[in-house]
Amino acid sequence: ARSDGDEEQVSGAEVIAQALKTQDVEYMFGIVGIPVTEIAVAAQRMGVRYVGMRNEQAACYAASAIGYLTGRPGVCLVVSGPGLIHALGGMANANMNCWPLIVIGGSSERSQETMGAFQEFPQAVRSSIYGRPGACYVDIPADFVNLQVNVNSVRYMECCMPPPVSMAETSAICMAATVIRNAKKPLLIIGKGAAYAHAEEGIRKLVERCKLPFLPTPMGKGVIPDNHPNCVAAARSRALQFADVIVLFGARLNWILHFGLPPRYQPDVKFIQVDICAEELGNNVKPAVTLLGDINAVTKQLLEQFDKTPWQYPPESSWWKTLREKMKSNEAASKELASQKSLPMNYYTVFYHVQEQLPRDCFVVSEGANTMDIGRTVLQNYLPRHRLDAGTFGTMGVGLGFAIAAAILAKARNTGQRVICVEGDSAFGFSGMEVETICRYNLPIILLVVNNNGIYQGFDVDSWKEMLKFGDATAVAPPVCLLPNSHYEQVMTAFGGKGYFVQTPEELQKSLRESLADTTAPSLINIMIEPQATRKAQDFHWLTHSKI
Ligand code: ADP
Ligand code: MG
Repeated sequence: ARSDGDEEQVSGAEVIAQALKTQDVEYMFGIVGIPVTEIAVAAQRMGVRYVGMRNEQAACYAASAIGYLTGRPGVCLVVSGPGLIHALGGMANANMNCWPLIVIGGSSERSQETMGAFQEFPQAVRSSIYGRPGACYVDIPADFVNLQVNVNSVRYMECCMPPPVSMAETSAICMAATVIRNAKKPLLIIGKGAAYAHAEEGIRKLVERCKLPFLPTPMGKGVIPDNHPNCVAAARSRALQFADVIVLFGARLNWILHFGLPPRYQPDVKFIQVDICAEELGNNVKPAVTLLGDINAVTKQLLEQFDKTPWQYPPESSWWKTLREKMKSNEAASKELASQKSLPMNYYTVFYHVQEQLPRDCFVVSEGANTMDIGRTVLQNYLPRHRLDAGTFGTMGVGLGFAIAAAILAKARNTGQRVICVEGDSAFGFSGMEVETICRYNLPIILLVVNNNGIYQGFDVDSWKEMLKFGDATAVAPPVCLLPNSHYEQVMTAFGGKGYFVQTPEELQKSLRESLADTTAPSLINIMIEPQATRKAQDFHWLTHSKI
């Protein structure tokens, strides 16, 4: 603001920044340029934390992760045209994940009739967090940013209230309780909607009071700790396939849950769906009961029912026996693979060593194909909202943005929590230059690049060279191949962080120990694994309905 005679003036940029501040926006990620630079400068001056990134897509991923982790939207600031186009990836990903996000784009100049643009912020904040959360876009005309107006002529709307809490119909709650009581093979599925709703306390009570088996979805991990005795994650396929009653707490019946259809499920399985979004209810299946409302509130309603008439699922049932046996055999199979001494290492060996040293309260960020899928089964989560991954959209390139968001949050909250980002080598490539962002803000993120020289699978150096004898790489290299033996750790050392190239379990253990001990600096551990390594045999092919 500057004084112009008696009238104190503010710029459009300052008005925008103040409007955001009034809406409790605490974090802004973006890349500046004409006409939005002034907005970032003004926002930072008003106490909004500004994180400058290297690609709008990663900035947008980071802003949406802040929305998921805090329940208030993060802002992504971009220039018009290409900046906005890059941000579209992040907006789509946020929408698919149901995460709140506000993207602010600077557009070309317009007439001054658009002066009310900042009024859009309360609306943007509200529509990003009310109902099913998602992405919003606010377009700011260029001339508005540098416009000077009398400070007294600006009115800021009050901060928008947290979303109103809705509860399910009482009759539906009674019906749901009855269906659960009559279940022979019950299963609770805990999704990232439950994590977002902060429903951890209620859901845990329900699990423990009724002694029910539960299965977290990838980002539902940690709502109840993975090592809880009722967690049947290690018998996932079996639990889904034979359950007769399934309660879905904020998890959609999409590809991640195999659409809720046979052969992955019993044809007559009874679904009880808990969701805040009415349109979601009845997707792909005809549910036995639908509970429309906030998961936290609905869980409390269910608990009241079981308080009135206590009930427990018998711990000695054959269902529990089936699940326990399957868990045991699956865990033994993974351990067996992990203990293999051959080099290069396989996925299981890598993840077992990582799990051994993983701090309990860390954030785990992960993306890749096998890297993410196998990593998820071995790496444990103990806290809600501490796992971020490729998500509903299966987006590659989210990892570094998510890791930056989590690390910025841990820093702001002074929790000392570490962020471990487990990346496939291909996934790392999508946003690799954000390593510079990590080093610039000195975020003590540990990046693990699980390197198999390719997408799904790759070649070792010798086979690669051999192959090139038969022609140019564009003619002979399988499309899944990436350059073998790439030294991704040097991307980190280029910016002053620590880099490790590891080929053995001992080197992995040592580099991880050193990285964890250094609480101030980022590091990247490039872990060479067998280029042809795969998952252990699965009962079902992941993306299809068919048995293999
Ligand atoms: P996952 O990938 O873990 O299975 P999904 O993203 O498929 O999770 O499902 C999350 C669901 O949670 C969405 O359908 C969303 O509408 C819902 N949801 C988000 N927040 C809440 C809330 N506070 N109460 C109830 N449902 C919610
Ligand atoms: Mg790979």
